[in-house]
Amino acid sequence: MRELTVDEPVDKGWQDYANCLGVDPDLFFPERGASTREAKEVCKGCVVRIDCLEYALANGEKFGIWGGMSERERRRIRRQRALARGTAVAINPASA
Ligand code: SF4
Repeated sequence: MRELTVDEPVDKGWQDYANCLGVDPDLFFPERGASTREAKEVCKGCVVRIDCLEYALANGEKFGIWGGMSERERRRIRRQRALARGTAVAINPASA
């Protein structure tokens, strides 16, 4: 599992339950174009996958596999959420 920097004020208790504890961190930061399959296999059975993914989304993690998703997959989720927020504001401006 990746080490987090000291100034990240987020509850990270979920990390104690991470499937990737003790797994080579390099697996989760493959070179560009390299396979992410092995890392995603580790994530697949992880009980804190959602916490991990939400942490990465909330903190704008740009690199690596978090919550079983690649940078590109997380970008897609961020875009979809931004669009959904925009739609909600357009429908109900009071919610902005
Ligand atoms: S989802 Fe993957 S990267 Fe995140 S804590 Fe679990 S095993 Fe580690």
